[in-house]
Amino acid sequence: MALGEFDLLRRFFIRPTRHPETTLGIGDDCALLRCPEGFELAVTTDTLVAGAHFLPEVDPESLGHKALAVNLSDLAAMGAEPKWAMLALTLPEVDETWLEAFGRGFFALADRQGMELIGGNTTRGPLSITLQAMGLVPSGGALRRSGARPGNLVYVSGPLGSAGLGLKIRLGETELEDFEALARLERPEPCVPLGLALRGIACACIDVSDGLAADLGHILEASKVGALLDFERLPLTEAVRRYIAGTGDWTLPLTAGDDYELCFTVPPAKKNQFEQRLAETGLSAAPIGRIEAEPGLKLRKEGHIVDFSPSGYEHFRRNGRG
Ligand SMILES: [Mg+2]
Repeated sequence: MALGEFDLLRRFFIRPTRHPETTLGIGDDCALLRCPEGFELAVTTDTLVAGAHFLPEVDPESLGHKALAVNLSDLAAMGAEPKWAMLALTLPEVDETWLEAFGRGFFALADRQGMELIGGNTTRGPLSITLQAMGLVPSGGALRRSGARPGNLVYVSGPLGSAGLGLKIRLGETELEDFEALARLERPEPCVPLGLALRGIACACIDVSDGLAADLGHILEASKVGALLDFERLPLTEAVRRYIAGTGDWTLPLTAGDDYELCFTVPPAKKNQFEQRLAETGLSAAPIGRIEAEPGLKLRKEGHIVDFSPSGYEHFRRNGRG
């Protein structure tokens, strides 16, 4: 027997409210929220579609985690503190085992990150998940893409290309086995604590969802600057190093998506303050290059400069591969 929408939401997704800013949580026509004085509301949304953004056979618990994680990653990239989420689920059928597992993955991460579900909706149709996430950031203090300046140091919070390797493993495109890559693909851990630690320090910030080159490219475009990165300084897992050594495909850490690390820029004058804050919080980040006045993304690799701007890289490929 099919459950009605209200029953579904009540059974799997209603939890007591706990934030003082939540005047009214899930269950009425709207939720009611209060934005405290001196703060702005940071709002983001992402849709995951079966077959396009995840493999249809992925386990629902991981999917519940990932649907929330990708939205938390956007809040982290703005330096926002996670508060609220809304969930719109489109399901081919009411499968209680599936819903229960999805909710388990979702709430394990939500509880850990202080995130409250304040509304939702279920519809029948091809499997897709839309999450909206909201957080609070001090007024004027959000980390935008447009703040990078020449001379800024470019950092990335963790290994690149690992989730991309995980996808290749799942698709059978590589013989390599790597549990970490699969975990990073299916259970990414959003960099919320780092986003908060970067308040007042980073000039520009973005989360790496579509690959470092594309996402840093958004910072460069919004800030009207360029960057020179050192390939040898990109943080890579051992498995990604083995993949590159075995295939020669060194572009994986620059082009593969789904890592959900943060890429950000810090002015040299705040470098010491930043390193001190990292030491205090136990967080880490790797310096990978510098912002330059001349537009475009360049990469220093084995002593050579490779133009890695979208158009430049196409040019390089044509020359390099005939
Ligand atoms: Mg993003």
